[in-house]
Amino acid sequence: MVVWIVLLLLFGLLDYPILGNSVGFAILVSLRLATAALLVMLFFQVKRKPSLATAGYAVTAIEIFGFVLFFFLYFIRHDIVSWVIGVAAMMIISLYIFIPNRVYLSTATAVFGISGLLYSVWLNGFGTPELIGLLFILSLPAVVGFFSTLRRQTGQRQQYALFQQVSSINRNLQNEIKRREALEEELKRQATTDPLTGLFNRRQYEMLFHRERERCTRQHKHISLAVADLDHFKRINDQFGHDIGDLALRHAADLFSCLLRQSDVVGRFGGEEFVLILPDTDLEQAVAVVSRLREELASRPLVTPQGSIQLTATFGVTQVEGSEDSIEMVIKRADKGLYEGKGAGRNRVMTA
Ligand code: GH3
Ligand code: MG
Ligand code: MG
Repeated sequence: MVVWIVLLLLFGLLDYPILGNSVGFAILVSLRLATAALLVMLFFQVKRKPSLATAGYAVTAIEIFGFVLFFFLYFIRHDIVSWVIGVAAMMIISLYIFIPNRVYLSTATAVFGISGLLYSVWLNGFGTPELIGLLFILSLPAVVGFFSTLRRQTGQRQQYALFQQVSSINRNLQNEIKRREALEEELKRQATTDPLTGLFNRRQYEMLFHRERERCTRQHKHISLAVADLDHFKRINDQFGHDIGDLALRHAADLFSCLLRQSDVVGRFGGEEFVLILPDTDLEQAVAVVSRLREELASRPLVTPQGSIQLTATFGVTQVEGSEDSIEMVIKRADKGLYEGKGAGRNRVMTA
């Protein structure tokens, strides 16, 4: 639009030496200034409302108005009649190539321009052969512009379709990555936890034991381990059924997990036995922690449709020695305490 305005006004300067202060000059200057003003207005309107550019009607209206100038030029500047025809042909092809517009709107403008010029020429008394020649000369840029624009637009559409395709593939890929990540997470969970209670399985708590023990050794801190065994669990199964037994296991597992610190490790050791790994905790502190677990378990019966069930557990607690690498030895020692506790009447915490 800026290029259009500049050319419009520059060519206007050439009118003055020929026409001087005449009516013809006044008409041409008015038309040039009016077209330039419309272009400036559109320039700012498009900035405010970009849809004006894509709709194409506003620029088409100005294009049509711009052509009127050429009709007057034809009558007023007799000295450059052949130039006017040449510039009109250039303008027709520029419509398609330089001014972004819809191809059918550009074509409508071209048809208007060609008809107007032919009419002007006819009014000047030219005959049919001249008119046909002129029609040919002016149609050529319109046809070339029409097909080249069509081809460019098809190319753009193909590019856009390709872009859409790539975007869609990319989106699917992202979804697939997310699905696989979730799957991986799930597999990891399944591989590291016990399905009934959600507690860590043997492989995982052994791994965590080694990691925590190494860290505690490095930082000169204590680490303790406890084993817990639910008391008279067979009776619960026998009396209430295996499903309620499972529920009781979950109840105890949830309670232990909730009451212990995030950094503590709770694992399922066997049927109704649990391993508790307490990093940064010495024996005395471990006894205090585990005693609280015992009290809480005993004071929170499991509520079932068949009545509430009083659960208790016996605990064996031991502190891991600095040189102990194997969790088995530690568990064995804690187990000794546990069995002493069972022997001493259950529902108690014993050290070993
Ligand atoms: P105590 O430990 O006090 O000596 O008596 P107990 O009755 O708990 O004895 P024991 O350790 O020998 O019995 C454990 C029972 O736990 C045996 C088994 O039926 C039950 N059990 C083991 N795993 C599961 C399980 O996954 N679900 C259920 N419902 N029961 C289980
Ligand atoms: Mg047992
Ligand atoms: Mg038991």
